[in-house]
Amino acid sequence: MGSYLDARHAGGRWLVRIDDLDPPRIRAGAATGILNALRCLGLHWDGEVLQQSTRTPAYADALERLQSLGLLYVCSCTRREVSGRAYPGTCRLKALKDAPQRCLRLRIPGGPLPLDDMIQGPRRFDVAATTGDIIVRRADGLTAYHLAAVVDDHFQGVTHVVRGADLLDASAIQCCVQGVLGFPAPRYGHLPMAVDASGRKLSKSLGAEAALLSAEPATLLLSALKFLGQNPDRALAGAPVQEVTDWAVANWRREKVPRAPAKIPVWPDMI
Ligand SMILES: [Zn+2]
Repeated sequence: MGSYLDARHAGGRWLVRIDDLDPPRIRAGAATGILNALRCLGLHWDGEVLQQSTRTPAYADALERLQSLGLLYVCSCTRREVSGRAYPGTCRLKALKDAPQRCLRLRIPGGPLPLDDMIQGPRRFDVAATTGDIIVRRADGLTAYHLAAVVDDHFQGVTHVVRGADLLDASAIQCCVQGVLGFPAPRYGHLPMAVDASGRKLSKSLGAEAALLSAEPATLLLSALKFLGQNPDRALAGAPVQEVTDWAVANWRREKVPRAPAKIPVWPDMI
């Protein structure tokens, strides 16, 4: 909703992309469920929904380009060997032959990366130090998320990315990838995380999806608006979805969005 309002308030287009790159992890009907929920909430997207599963040739082109720039190398480390820390570059100089069960990594340039976030303010990252060389083609042959996201953002002409603060590190990594591919970086804005009483991120596993489906769409929108630091008009109580979204687009104030994680307030108790 934050990205929808930010785009629409600026007179921009709002694009929906389905990250269905990872067949073993795809739940049947999940994409349809997401699109239906968006329609229900009056969050109508522009153009066709882009499915990453249709974009394999574009990802192969990007890999070839990185390869020809001499920025890729084959890595045979197992997930267990490198989990939980920055990849130390173990295979950088080994010149391993590409083979099944081996991944391709992209050399990440060292040094600070400033990112002027539209919501979180100026931040500094050092991807080489915190993440290290990233996987761009996984050991199972699939394109890794960061490369796919960068290639698709560029393909779709994305100028602004608004998403959850849990993706701040991902955005920094993607800026690095844009840099090496010579793509202009979009502006990023990271919304506060919605958490439960014990500070855990709200997600499907915590029953947030069930809550989403059981509540009234217009009421959900009002709660989300309050969460995003907007002050929905009291007169909107009981209004239809379209009226709430129209109000929200017209009155969106990005500078009012809080930075810190918070619980979702329940309308109308919170006003
Ligand atoms: Zn390795």
